[in-house]
Amino acid sequence: MRPDEPQNQPTGLTSAEAAKRLQKHGPNALAEAKPISVWRILLRQFTGLLVLLLLGAALVALVLGEHVDSIAIGMVVILNGVLGFVQEWRAETALAALRNMLAPKARVIRDQELIEIDRREIVPGDLILLDAGDQVPADARLTTALELRVDESVLTGESAPVSKSIRPDDANNTVMMGTHVVSGRAEAIVEATGSKTAFGKIATLTGSVGEKETNLSRQLGKLGAQLGLVAIGIGVAVALVGVLVGRDVIDMVMTGLSMAVAIVPEGLPAVVTISLALGAAAMVRQKALARRLQAMETLGSASVICTDKTGTLTENMMTTETLWITGRQYDAVGTGYDPTGRILLEGQPIRYGANADLDAALDVMVGCNHAKLRREGAQWQMVGDPTEGALLTFAYKGWTSIPAGPALSEIPFSSARKRMSTVRWLGEDLIQLVKGAPEQVLDVCTHWRGPNGTAVLTDADRKSIETAYASFAERGLRVIALARREVSQTEVKEESLEFIGLVGMVDPPRPEVRAAIQACKSAGIDVIMITGDGPLTARAIAEKLNMPVERTITGAELEQTDDEALAQLLKQPVLFARTSPEHKMRLIRTLQADGQIVAMTGDGVNDAPALKKADIGVAMGTRGTDVAKDAADLVLLDDNFATLERAIREGRRQFANIQRFVRYLLSSNAGEVVAILINLALGGPLIFLPTQILWMNLVTDGVTALMLGLEPGTSDQMTQPPRNPKSGILDRTAMWIILAFGAYTGTASLYLFHSFMHEGEAIARTVAFSGMVLFEKMSVFAFRSFTRPCWKLGWFSNPLLILALVAMIGAQLAAVYWPPLQTLLRTAPLGWEHWQMIALFAIPLVAVPEIIKTLRTTQDGPQAE
Ligand code: ATP
Repeated sequence: MRPDEPQNQPTGLTSAEAAKRLQKHGPNALAEAKPISVWRILLRQFTGLLVLLLLGAALVALVLGEHVDSIAIGMVVILNGVLGFVQEWRAETALAALRNMLAPKARVIRDQELIEIDRREIVPGDLILLDAGDQVPADARLTTALELRVDESVLTGESAPVSKSIRPDDANNTVMMGTHVVSGRAEAIVEATGSKTAFGKIATLTGSVGEKETNLSRQLGKLGAQLGLVAIGIGVAVALVGVLVGRDVIDMVMTGLSMAVAIVPEGLPAVVTISLALGAAAMVRQKALARRLQAMETLGSASVICTDKTGTLTENMMTTETLWITGRQYDAVGTGYDPTGRILLEGQPIRYGANADLDAALDVMVGCNHAKLRREGAQWQMVGDPTEGALLTFAYKGWTSIPAGPALSEIPFSSARKRMSTVRWLGEDLIQLVKGAPEQVLDVCTHWRGPNGTAVLTDADRKSIETAYASFAERGLRVIALARREVSQTEVKEESLEFIGLVGMVDPPRPEVRAAIQACKSAGIDVIMITGDGPLTARAIAEKLNMPVERTITGAELEQTDDEALAQLLKQPVLFARTSPEHKMRLIRTLQADGQIVAMTGDGVNDAPALKKADIGVAMGTRGTDVAKDAADLVLLDDNFATLERAIREGRRQFANIQRFVRYLLSSNAGEVVAILINLALGGPLIFLPTQILWMNLVTDGVTALMLGLEPGTSDQMTQPPRNPKSGILDRTAMWIILAFGAYTGTASLYLFHSFMHEGEAIARTVAFSGMVLFEKMSVFAFRSFTRPCWKLGWFSNPLLILALVAMIGAQLAAVYWPPLQTLLRTAPLGWEHWQMIALFAIPLVAVPEIIKTLRTTQDGPQAE
């Protein structure tokens, strides 16, 4: 490759100048996609089947002269709308906040320093740096381009990446905002920002968080629609039958309508979306950002996590510990990126210039490197790749001289090639400097710095190098090989190199990951490490993390393995090392074919397809490229595996809670339907008035269900195997339990109704109505868990639920004794004897399920939910 060397190397803006330009040109942002308006959210609350039914009921009541009923129903419509609005507004604002968290960064040179800034602060004239995986932050003219290829499909629709150069005659010497760097590196001067860019002219930025349709809400939407039809059918049938058997027409029409209202769980899909959105907002506090709500739902059913090692399982805080050159070992003192340590040879400090071997190694460390070290107060900051940062720090500890001028040409590092080369002047000599994974570097070496100076690399020499490599790797060190050669032209050819030595760097495992892996194991989730690092290093790290590994398979071996054999391999604890991003796709495909729900982590540009293919694509917040983040469902803001485990835990909790409140609400509806239907068959007068049904469904049950959705995680949540994603919210057991509760509460309130009929219809109805409300409140304890008794869960572990129960019982007392509500709900004041009877029927609703659960727990240990 010819060097694309600019005549006048641009140096970027000063921060004062940049601030001035920011004033003039405004922030580098596009007009945000219009936030959804308050009015639309409000209006949305008053559409849909439920509201139409209610409005129909209000109208019928009005026409029939039942003014109180129509006012009551009207109020319910408004109350329901306002509650829905508040919830949805909260969810919308939570999602908008999440969208803002994704505000990406860009690297610019300001005041001669490489810094990272918010992309919005870029101004025309800024010198920006671009790397593989970056999204181009503004329209810019290239000043340096090394193997730069850009995906411009967002602008042109053309999916093949476009090669770029800086030649003035080349039409491809600019880069556009919104496009993605596929490979290579570049520097460019910004020419247009914000809405003045090509992208800005044609597009408005749409926030990517907020695809709200999840499988679950779709499923529930379907269930809602089906039940809606059933409801209308039953409603009409009830009204017709009633009229035919000579009942009051008004009463029957109202009963039919309220029956329909009683059955339709119309609000469920919205409630699910809202809980998932609020859950997503809560999860951000735990450092996991769900980019799609679907992820929240899928997380709970993840059965395999494929994770990379560097930065996710480890700290990604590299420190070069040792340098090995022909058997001689140089050690560094100090950790982190503070270059004030020393290099020691046999305990004695040694510096650049003391011996040629060390000099050659240190030259590669600084000359084939893009990292920068900067001092901020007492702290040293590193900008760039941690591996390169560690090499630079080591070189600085040896007082290495910094090569003058930029590299003349380069083949950048990529995870697929696993090595990097630059060509530059070192003094009078034109030198190619190479570093990379030992396998990849040794592959292109023909000579080495042996004990007697430069010599041809024999098989025996290779063996001794490999032995040194293995001894580093077995200690869990990350190993980088260094090489060089003198060249006569600037074109980079990776061949006939002279091997210099091996660098061993520590990247300690993150302390919290060990427990997180253990938690995944007991939750039935397999954790598979897929790393670009070498097999021995990977295995040593796995051991430190207590990850079971029976087989280590390299990328090369993987390519030799057929699908069937791979499927078998994946059934045992296995680790994949020296892989390329493409290998991830194959592993996902094989795992998914086996019915697994796969979470896959990734950070590079080449990881994007795998992140899309995985059931849950997980990108890294700090280390990840824009492309990876774009493709992911979940972003770990701290890059930490332990965060992923917490997100799964949270996903499980949320799913269980949605399950709880859906089941609970349906059981309440079932009770009302049973009571109304049997009563109708018996020919009794109306057991519940329409307004009473609305009161139960929308006020007392609604609030209780919402609080049931806030159940804390249980200790057994991560000891159960992952949920089968095909099993919906309502399995057979749940259906039976819902029906059993419905049958009991329905018949019990019916019994109360008829046994107090001699005291008048108003009293009897109030007893049945209050009974039903209380029964529904009491059943909530069973729906907290079908398997774990409340004394195990803690009766007060969800204080908001208890508060809701107390408040709703208070509301029911008001309904019975407070004159305005008495008028609205047509209730009559009850006496002690009535409440005693209600209590008598209510107690078994708590006691029986608790006894059954207790007996089952003590007999066979805890069961699955
Ligand atoms: P993981 O896939 O778990 O994140 P990784 O960081 O080791 O692990 P890659 O980034 O694909 O994966 O790196 C693969 C190998 O390439 C490393 O093990 C190292 O030997 C070498 N390497 C890493 N960074 C550089 C670099 N900047 N220049 C040259 N070689 C590098």
